[in-house]
Amino acid sequence: MTESNTLKFDAEHIWHPYSSAANPSCIHEVVSAKGVRLTLKDGRELIDGMASWWSTIHGYNHPRLNQAAKDQIDQMSHVMFGGLTHRPAIDLASQLIDMTAEPLQHVFFADSGSISVEVAIKMAIQYFFAQGQENKQRLLTIRGGYHGDSFGAMAVCDPVNGMHTMFEQVLPKHLFAPMPTCENDEDWQDSDIAEFRELIKNNHQQLAAVILEPLVQGAGGMRFYCPEYLRQVRALCDQYDVLLILDEIATAFGRAGTLFAYEQADIVPDILCVGKAITGGYMSLAATLCTEKVSQGIAADGSGVLMHGPTFMANPLACSVANESLTMLLESDWQTQVQNIENQLFEELMPLQTNELVKQVRVKGAIGVIELNKTFDEQMDWLPTFIVDQGVWIRPFRNLVYIMPPYIISKGDLTTLTTAMGKVVQKLSTVL
Ligand SMILES: *Cc1c(COP(=O)(O)O)cnc(C)c1O
Repeated sequence: MTESNTLKFDAEHIWHPYSSAANPSCIHEVVSAKGVRLTLKDGRELIDGMASWWSTIHGYNHPRLNQAAKDQIDQMSHVMFGGLTHRPAIDLASQLIDMTAEPLQHVFFADSGSISVEVAIKMAIQYFFAQGQENKQRLLTIRGGYHGDSFGAMAVCDPVNGMHTMFEQVLPKHLFAPMPTCENDEDWQDSDIAEFRELIKNNHQQLAAVILEPLVQGAGGMRFYCPEYLRQVRALCDQYDVLLILDEIATAFGRAGTLFAYEQADIVPDILCVGKAITGGYMSLAATLCTEKVSQGIAADGSGVLMHGPTFMANPLACSVANESLTMLLESDWQTQVQNIENQLFEELMPLQTNELVKQVRVKGAIGVIELNKTFDEQMDWLPTFIVDQGVWIRPFRNLVYIMPPYIISKGDLTTLTTAMGKVVQKLSTVL
């Protein structure tokens, strides 16, 4: 293959996330990345506002993460986890247990976020099965959520924005409460939880768990909601003997301003999913943590085994990089970094609120969102070209122009990103 026809080959043969084989969208080839910059094949450099989907918190090509990977490669890249264990997994489990709330004591290493959600759902169902409550197999969630693309996860994604229509016949039917509307605790109104309360009250005999993204709904719509809602959910789960699964795959490791979003509500989940930033964006790894109550509860019945075990479970290479990434995070002053990003996003994005096309500007931690009051066609080829021409990498979707940059981004680079976001909104307001 010659250097000039790689994109043609890509368009003809390779699927990208949510892409069409017949009508592939405009795509750019990246040859390297360092810090917050991606280098394209034509030599252009882009400031990355996406952190490769929440993951690259320390920036690309970090010497310490590179070293951790190289050191581990020289020991072993992989070994099966059935019947064997290794130091990288033990150290990572220990770090995760130390970082998270005290009751979370047992770790399952999954190979992606979606799979960590599948495992969380299995844990909840097996927990009640082991107590002889075989009827507790359904889930309750809120609309607007995103939990992954595999079947179990898809079934708790938003039924409208998610993929329910096409797969309706094969997806389990779960229960959906309305999206929370309160943005902060001062505005809390009991009506916000009323329908959720009715659903859990009327269905708890069938419910194994509630599953939610705490405080930040990511790919389902980039919405934020108040901690009080979570406190209410926790209390209702306790009252009706339903487990609480928190999906922190996007929010864990500081993104929303605290190490874990649940800390802001001062609650503890029974089961916690983490992923995305865990390896600092180096490779795919996720984990499902649970309390002793859940792990011992599952073990109480018959063989007591948790029914999951992927081939690449606890891959040593991924675990080693994750160990280094989490060590770096805890050594760094990430709170100040995230706080500074939040302040700057607030200052630089809020003025866009006056644009007629803008419905709302929202900022939380290192997440900045501009929601438009019109949906645009993501396939418009000029859009990615227009964005790349600003020297940035952002990826607007549906009616959202948003960023969640690496924590290490400089003030100047962040201004370049927010300026580009403003230009995208300007440009969209001339075509929509
Ligand atoms: C990305 C994401 C997932 C899915 O993770 P994958 O690694 O893409 O499978 C699940 N839940 C949330 C909240 C996410 O942001």
